[in-house]
Amino acid sequence: MKTFAVLQLAGCAGCEVSLLNADEWVGQYRLAYMPLVISAHDVPEVDLLLVSGGVRNEEDLYNLRRAAPRAGKVVAIGTCAISGGVPSLGDRDDVREVFLTDRRHHVPQLLPKCHPIDAVVPVDRYLPGCPPTPELFMALLTGPPGFKMSAIVCIECGRKKLRDMKPNRFTGFQRGEVEPGICLINQGFLCIGSSTRGGCRAPCPRAGHPCVGCRGPSDSLIEKESAAWLSSISRVISGLTDIPAADIDCELRSPHLSLFLFQFSDYSGPGRTPRPKEKVM
Ligand code: SF4
Ligand code: SF4
Repeated sequence: MKTFAVLQLAGCAGCEVSLLNADEWVGQYRLAYMPLVISAHDVPEVDLLLVSGGVRNEEDLYNLRRAAPRAGKVVAIGTCAISGGVPSLGDRDDVREVFLTDRRHHVPQLLPKCHPIDAVVPVDRYLPGCPPTPELFMALLTGPPGFKMSAIVCIECGRKKLRDMKPNRFTGFQRGEVEPGICLINQGFLCIGSSTRGGCRAPCPRAGHPCVGCRGPSDSLIEKESAAWLSSISRVISGLTDIPAADIDCELRSPHLSLFLFQFSDYSGPGRTPRPKEKVM
């Protein structure tokens, strides 16, 4: 039986909870290490190492460098390991100032910046999501026959984009009533499902909550700079609304999207080798 381990770096354990909700791998894999549920001193040699969380401090760096060479394959799991998320909010100057103070004794020293795991070790596959859904974990671990994912979230969402329903301002995050069956952009919500890779089955927009892009850029954008992703989103919103371009730009940079959009730009800006789309689920 193949073995796998889950190495948790700086993150929230949401990916682990999602993996535990996908129980079909039991019987096909032996889980050898996962601090959330299995006590073990160290990561053993395994066929597959799933890494969640970003490289935020020296302990993360040490653990990742130690565990990766013992694994047959390394998979980056979730937004924090691949492209940011909550731990990289500490890259902000004001937050960093607090955490880099020398009053922090007996805890691992923070690195000046949060890093994706592929800045430290080679990665064989990427499974983005915050967290990836149980179905995606199963697709990664067991490759069930017939598993298909759509190129973008819009295809899995099923809401209809209308050319004759054009709001001239944003409704506001978590405000207003949501009509069923109609694209959220037509209703004045900033939904970025058109640029976001599918596979999650669009739980957010189907429930009336705009997609914030946790699955990351679609294949057509993933090898491009984050500016291309932002302009693609802007184009879609301009086409479906009469909202002024400046307002769209301002909303795209608003705090509720910052967890994902800004961290993607931090991680994939100039100088970063693009992630080959063949490796991204
Ligand atoms: S933009 Fe959002 S609401 Fe509209 S179709 Fe795409 S995912 Fe659905
Ligand atoms: S719909 Fe968007 S935000 Fe929601 S899980 Fe999918 S990619 Fe993430």
